[in-house]
Amino acid sequence: MLSPRDSVIGLKHGAGGPAMRSLIRQVFLGGGDGGGNNGAGGNGARAGEGGVPLAHLDDGAALRVGDRWLVVTTDSHVVHPVFFPGGDIGRLAVAGTVNDLAMMGATDVLALTCGVILEEGFPVAELERIQASMEATCAEAGAEIVAGDTKVMGRGEVDGIVLNTTGVAFTDRVVGDRGLTVGDRLLVTGTVGDHGLAVMAVRNDLGLEGDLRSDVAPLNRLIRAAMDAAGDDLVAMKDPTRGGLSSALHEMAEKAGVGIVLEEAAVPLRNEVRAAGELLGIDPLHVANEGKALLAVRPGAADAVLAALRAHPLGAEAAIVGTAVAERAGSVILDTGFGRRLLAEPEGELLPRIC
Ligand code: MG
Repeated sequence: MLSPRDSVIGLKHGAGGPAMRSLIRQVFLGGGDGGGNNGAGGNGARAGEGGVPLAHLDDGAALRVGDRWLVVTTDSHVVHPVFFPGGDIGRLAVAGTVNDLAMMGATDVLALTCGVILEEGFPVAELERIQASMEATCAEAGAEIVAGDTKVMGRGEVDGIVLNTTGVAFTDRVVGDRGLTVGDRLLVTGTVGDHGLAVMAVRNDLGLEGDLRSDVAPLNRLIRAAMDAAGDDLVAMKDPTRGGLSSALHEMAEKAGVGIVLEEAAVPLRNEVRAAGELLGIDPLHVANEGKALLAVRPGAADAVLAALRAHPLGAEAAIVGTAVAERAGSVILDTGFGRRLLAEPEGELLPRIC
């Protein structure tokens, strides 16, 4: 339930954490519990037996079509500033949608669509730069934008540019985000916090622009390699975007009814990200990544999946970072090497307009 004081939307409702999930459950799932009652999200019948309906609040939906699964996902992008070290809103929009498809097991992108909302006065040269970036990112992912829409709003009615991208792809095997069982290992495909801290450093004029770069990248080919190495032993995936690794782990733990022990020392972290996090008072574990994935695998497959990830340029710094456990279901237990404590999931919005 939303708390009684939430009669209007706050920034926390877009933060990817508990407040956003409770808003979605109350408004878009018609008060549903994320399980049986799908409310406004329909009755879930369209997904079919074994499919992924809206109520799962996964990275996308999976619908039965013949003997395959059609994965559908959609994202809106409001990042500020539009151009940041390592990327821009166009690359973010394409990579974000390609990655959500990949997180469902759909690594071969059938098509993307793109809706563009512009503010009167937005420079055409910047729009052209964003379009070129989208095209280059599509080429990297083997994707194509097949339909679009352009709207313009008056000055001050929208801030610069908003992009919405939808993606569709077929897969033979759906991988959701709720498949963990006790003993499964968790892998992250590289360093965490890069995107969020790169954007925040520019916004706060930290003068670290040369060092900090967003990791924004399409991961579908990296994920294909992991899926080929793991077979049925790859049991869950999620991209740790808003709310960072912490939110993604909490969501996986909650949905699967397990605890997750995260080994702090094993989490790959760039020194400059650690330094910027300390300057800004922001834990990199809570910060958005746009070119990283969190994978859960059966224990016997962890080493093979790690090797497959590291063999790909986007997975060179992949690491095994955690384990699903029976105690503390729904919680994330941070093992610092000196002791254990519960990792909190921030309720408020640390970083508005990060993606
Ligand atoms: Mg996602």
